[in-house]
Amino acid sequence: MPTIAFDALDYRADQSFAAARYRFDGDERTGWRIDRDGVTALQLGPGFRLLRVRQCGVCSTDLARHHLPFPLPQVIGHEVVAIDAEGRRYVVEINASHHARGIANDCAFCRAGLPTHCPERTTLGIHDLPGGFGAWILAPIEGCLEVPANVPDSAAVLVEPLAAALHAVTTIAPRAGESIAVLGPRRLGMLVIAALHAYRSSHSPQDAFTIAAVARDPRLLALAKQFGANSTHPAGSLADGAFDVVIDTTGNPAGLESAVRMARREVHLKSTHGQPSVGLHHTTELVVDEIGIARFPDAAPAAGEAPWERLRTGPRPRIAWLANATPPPWLPAQVDVQRGTAVALAAHYGSATEGLPRADVVVADSAAGVDAAIRPQAGREVALVRPRGQVLVLAGARRDASLAASPLLAAVTTRHLELSSSRCGDFRAALQLLAADAELRRIGDRLVTHHFPAMALREAFATARSPDCIKAVVDQPEAGASA
Ligand SMILES: [Zn+2]
Ligand SMILES: [Zn+2]
Repeated sequence: MPTIAFDALDYRADQSFAAARYRFDGDERTGWRIDRDGVTALQLGPGFRLLRVRQCGVCSTDLARHHLPFPLPQVIGHEVVAIDAEGRRYVVEINASHHARGIANDCAFCRAGLPTHCPERTTLGIHDLPGGFGAWILAPIEGCLEVPANVPDSAAVLVEPLAAALHAVTTIAPRAGESIAVLGPRRLGMLVIAALHAYRSSHSPQDAFTIAAVARDPRLLALAKQFGANSTHPAGSLADGAFDVVIDTTGNPAGLESAVRMARREVHLKSTHGQPSVGLHHTTELVVDEIGIARFPDAAPAAGEAPWERLRTGPRPRIAWLANATPPPWLPAQVDVQRGTAVALAAHYGSATEGLPRADVVVADSAAGVDAAIRPQAGREVALVRPRGQVLVLAGARRDASLAASPLLAAVTTRHLELSSSRCGDFRAALQLLAADAELRRIGDRLVTHHFPAMALREAFATARSPDCIKAVVDQPEAGASA
């Protein structure tokens, strides 16, 4: 049984860092015991391998970690480049699902191809699993992807956010002639611009779209041009409906409100700041579950075009109906519609034996209904609607006042704006893109402005919050800890 002991800085609920002595005992096959200061903090089952951390990026999720609904203290950090005993380099898919651990399971989420939404996952550096600001990590074995030889550490350390950026681009699926704006391009948003640029380059010229960057800081706008933006705009200078799609990467609640105002077709949300926004409490949880919001159709959609058809995971599409009005008669008979409170319906779908134990679509007619679709029960991180599902807002004749009071729901119901969101992405796609694109491999040289040693996390966080920093990376000493 390999035993590793090392000192690392825990992040605590009061936003301070405190040194703790960690010890990992176990192996890939039988599981691991994690001790903190001599007390067992976590028991892990099989499917985790021990890797030594080389570098770990600081991202906005880390800076907002105290707002997130996962226990603290914890060693955080999730944008990792790590090495094995033979010196091979890896990036690590952070969601330690059954699938990523390579263990047998009867998990509906892992089986449905949604391992990043596995309800029994731990998450590297975010939820329970000690993260990359410590010298050693326990990484899910199938989630360790070897870094191609031509991809330098400086780019590899950005694979996690680059994958997330690529996922945002494929989710919005830019259309020919559209204008796509990135709001608040900084550590993540700059990667979204790079991903948009790479996506556009891989399509034919007649499918081209334009990329705009919107930011306060003129230095960020200059950098956005280097990453592929066609136009740049100072924040606050833009008219309502200035762009077809706006991707909000600001990481603050006011950003979403601006994005809603400026977007015609769709707003894509990437921010997980843990705070209320646009009249909703659960926008962060919405991003965590990659849920979308749109207007409930006024008339029967054409065959094959109803959102519940493409979201179905069981034998019949499941619609949880939270709205006051009765479902329209055209809602087809082959759809399973259940009416009730969000709590009762969550319990109902929770016992489903086929497909995911969730509704595919929730229909709501108030801000409270939308919030309840995302988190029906206080203190339980379980949605009524499935991951990557949709909440459809019914705009009946007697509209709830909360719809007008929420800038987002007002836009969804009056001008058919759609909201989408995404969290993690496909590491393989990001690695392939980097391996094939010499220009993109220089991404770290442009984006990473600061490096810090592992024991200077306090300074790293203070700097990462300052306007002079775009991306900070924390480096582990070469001869990590004693084995
Ligand atoms: Zn991150
Ligand atoms: Zn699972």
